[in-house]
Amino acid sequence: MIHLTGATVVLPDRLLTPGRVSIHHGHITEVQACRPGEGRELEGHFIVPGFIDVHVHGIEGTDALDGADAIARIAARLPPFGVTAFCPTSIACTPVSLREMLAGVRVARETRRAGAARVLPAHLESNFISSDFKGAQPEGCIRAPRELRPGDFSGADILDEIAAARGDVGIVTVAPEIDGVLDLIADLAHHGHRVSLGHSGATYAQAREGIAAGARHATHLFNRMSPFGHREPGLVGAILESDLVAAEIICDGVHVHPGAVRAAVAAKGASKIMAVTDGTAGSGIPRGQTARLGGRRITISDAAYLDDGTLAGSVLTMDRAFAMLVKTMGFSVVDAAQMCSTTPARELGLDGFGAIVPGAVADLVVLDAQLQVVETYIAGAPSMGV
Ligand SMILES: [Zn+2]
Repeated sequence: MIHLTGATVVLPDRLLTPGRVSIHHGHITEVQACRPGEGRELEGHFIVPGFIDVHVHGIEGTDALDGADAIARIAARLPPFGVTAFCPTSIACTPVSLREMLAGVRVARETRRAGAARVLPAHLESNFISSDFKGAQPEGCIRAPRELRPGDFSGADILDEIAAARGDVGIVTVAPEIDGVLDLIADLAHHGHRVSLGHSGATYAQAREGIAAGARHATHLFNRMSPFGHREPGLVGAILESDLVAAEIICDGVHVHPGAVRAAVAAKGASKIMAVTDGTAGSGIPRGQTARLGGRRITISDAAYLDDGTLAGSVLTMDRAFAMLVKTMGFSVVDAAQMCSTTPARELGLDGFGAIVPGAVADLVVLDAQLQVVETYIAGAPSMGV
């Protein structure tokens, strides 16, 4: 039995201070107020539920498409940033690369290495997106679901890879305006995948069709999608108004203005917003250095950029996303914990995760008064990565 005492415990709806969290056999057994003077060792700290990042391409030089062991290496490096579970995220790639990554996801999910973050089913920032909104994704890998390409690969080849690894594919990002994608949304949803709208120039009407077909998630709201206009609300408007859709937001202060983050949370509530990093292999390495995203070079500064200057994902980590939400964007720690953990857990159907309540799995982060990670617990075991 472990007791974490004296900290401010961030509960789903309020702060408990000073509080005590008791852990036994990997689960939270009790959450209660401390008596004054009792167990003061974490005084001045916060205990928050472990961060769950549903959109992360890599960390510290490793990209999810870097080969068989890449996923396990990423999992091992995320706990120091407070991440206890994550969706390894691909960009548009070849069937061979996708197969290799999904094999890595399966192995990492079946056998979590000691001290590593939990690997969730992958997020495919897939081939079925709009060329006009591709961002840093490779044009040569973008397909329509039914498009045939003799000698190369077709959309059907990608769908075959997804079908062969269903349990390891969670979120699939698609652009609903692409020919055949509405049928694909319905099919993916039918097979239990979580369909996300993104990298898309959909009109408001096309976006609504995507939601009607079964899309329930939005990939990095505002970035690489048709913007909000008062006469044509675009994909952004369709996402903001829909209670059915939960939206990711990259909370690095670069990809989305803090005011736009506040506007989105005002529209949807923290219960429908998921803070993500969209972190690349450039996350956690010094500015000026280079790394790779799906095989292409990225240079690290306030975010990651391709050689032609295209914004190519972030260098954000979840600890900084949490601190940014509180310190720069002005959210309460309760709301920040919801966006970094509770909402992604609920949206992904992870029962027993994302909240500090008796009976939940003891995936926790201890933060100091400056909101820096002091310790990460996964299944009740302290972990600072391996
Ligand atoms: Zn991404």
